[in-house]
Amino acid sequence: MSEPTTTTTAVHPALLDRHRAVLPDWLALYYRRPIELTHGAGRHVWDAEGNRYLDFFGGILTTMTAHALPEVADAVAEQATRMLHSSTLYLNRPMVELAERIAALSGIPDARVFFTTSGTEANDTALLLATAFRRSNQVLAMRNGYHGRSFSAVGVTGNSGWAPTSLSPLRTLYVHGGVRTRGPFAELDDAGFVAACVADLRDLLAQTRGGVAALIAEPVQGVGGFTSGPDGLLAAFREVLDEHGVLWISDEVQTGWGRTGDHFWGWQAHGASGPPDMLTFAKGIGNGMSIGGVVARAEVMNCLDANSISTFGGSPVTMSAGLANLGYLLEHDLPGNARRVGGLLIERLRAATAGLSVVREVRGRGLMIGVELVAPGTDEPSPEAAALALEAAREGGVLIGRGGPPGSGVLRIAPPLSLTVAEAEQGVEVLTRALATVDSRLR
Ligand code: PLP
Repeated sequence: MSEPTTTTTAVHPALLDRHRAVLPDWLALYYRRPIELTHGAGRHVWDAEGNRYLDFFGGILTTMTAHALPEVADAVAEQATRMLHSSTLYLNRPMVELAERIAALSGIPDARVFFTTSGTEANDTALLLATAFRRSNQVLAMRNGYHGRSFSAVGVTGNSGWAPTSLSPLRTLYVHGGVRTRGPFAELDDAGFVAACVADLRDLLAQTRGGVAALIAEPVQGVGGFTSGPDGLLAAFREVLDEHGVLWISDEVQTGWGRTGDHFWGWQAHGASGPPDMLTFAKGIGNGMSIGGVVARAEVMNCLDANSISTFGGSPVTMSAGLANLGYLLEHDLPGNARRVGGLLIERLRAATAGLSVVREVRGRGLMIGVELVAPGTDEPSPEAAALALEAAREGGVLIGRGGPPGSGVLRIAPPLSLTVAEAEQGVEVLTRALATVDSRLR
C-alpha cells in the first residue's frame, strides 16, 4: 500500500485571480488556496502541482465508478467521433436504451424517463409535472433539504446556506424529519421521532387549503450533512400523502445507483411498500458526463398539455457514457462493494476517532458517510473545525467534502463506489490524523 502524498502548496495564483475576476462570488470554492485538478485514475486525482490525492468526494458524488474508467472513456470517444448531437427531435438509440434500463431499475410501474442535464433541472421538471398534475403550486419540502439552484429548486431548498433570497413561484411548507440528532425531536427514540414528524406533516396539511401538489425529499440529505430520519420515516409519510393525494418525489441525485450500499435507491431504506410517484437522478449515472432526469409513472409524466424538447438532455454522447457506466456498476456489483467497504470505513473511522471530542458522530450508510464535528469538550457545532479538518485532510493527501445545516461542521465522505479496502484504511488513517490535529488545535 503506497503512502498518501503529503502535499506541497497546490495553488495557481494567476488562475485563481482570473477565476475571481470572471466567475460569480457565490460559486463555492474549496480550500484557503484552491487547487486545480488535472487528471485522475481509479480513486485518485492529481493537481497541477503534481500532488496525488485519494478522492473521497468524487467530484461531489459524481465520479461513481472510478476516474478515467476506460469503459466510459471509450464509449464517449466512440460516440463523439460518429455524432456529438442530434436533439430529441430524432430517434436516439442510446437514449432509448438508457431510459429502458433506468425505467426497469426504478421500480415505478409504467415508468417514463425524461433526461435533463443536471439534478437541478431534473427537480425543476419533477416540480413542473407535480404542479401541473395537481393544478397547485403548493408543495412540501424537508427542513435542511437541498434540491438545486434554479428558480424553483431554491424555492424548495430548506437549508438557508444554499437557498439565496428569491421570489420562488412555489408556495412551500417545510416538514421536520431530515435531521435526527438535533432539533425539537432529538430526544425521542426512533418510533417517537417518526410519530412526531408525521404529526407535524398532518398539522401542515391541515393548515393548507387542500391542493398540495407534492412532497420533495432526499432519502439521505446530502448537502445537509449526510443526515436522515430513521428508516421508515418516508414510509410513514407516504401513508399520509396518499390520504391527501399528494405526490411523493424522491430526490435520488446523491442517493441513487447503490451509493447507500444496502439499496439501489435511497427511498428503499425507508420501508415504503411501493416506489415514489417520481424519482429524480443525476450525478453518478454519467460518471462526470452531465446526465440528469426524472422517472415518473406515465399518467404523471404525460400530464403536460404542450409540446416540449430538451436540446441537450439525452445527448447520444452522455447517454453512451451512462450506459457504459451503469453496465460497469452492475457487472462489478459496486453497490455491494459500497456496502462492504463503506461498512468497514464507518466502523474503522468510528473506532479510530472515538477518543476525539471534536467528533460528535460518525454516521451514514454505504459510501455516504458524515462526520459531525463540535468544538472540543462541548456540544456546539463547529464550522471552524470542519474548515480546519478539510485543510488537514488535503495536506495528508485526501480530498473530502463539507456540508450540514448552516453554522454546523459536517465532513462528507463519498468516494467512488469501487473503493478498495486498502484505500479505505489509508483514508481512515489520514482522516484520523487530521481530526486529531484539529482536536488539539481547538482545545
Ligand atoms: N438534488 C440534490 C440532492 C443534490 O445534492 C444536488 C446537487 O448537489 C442537486 C439536486 C442539484 O444537482 P445539480 O448540481 O446537478 O444541478
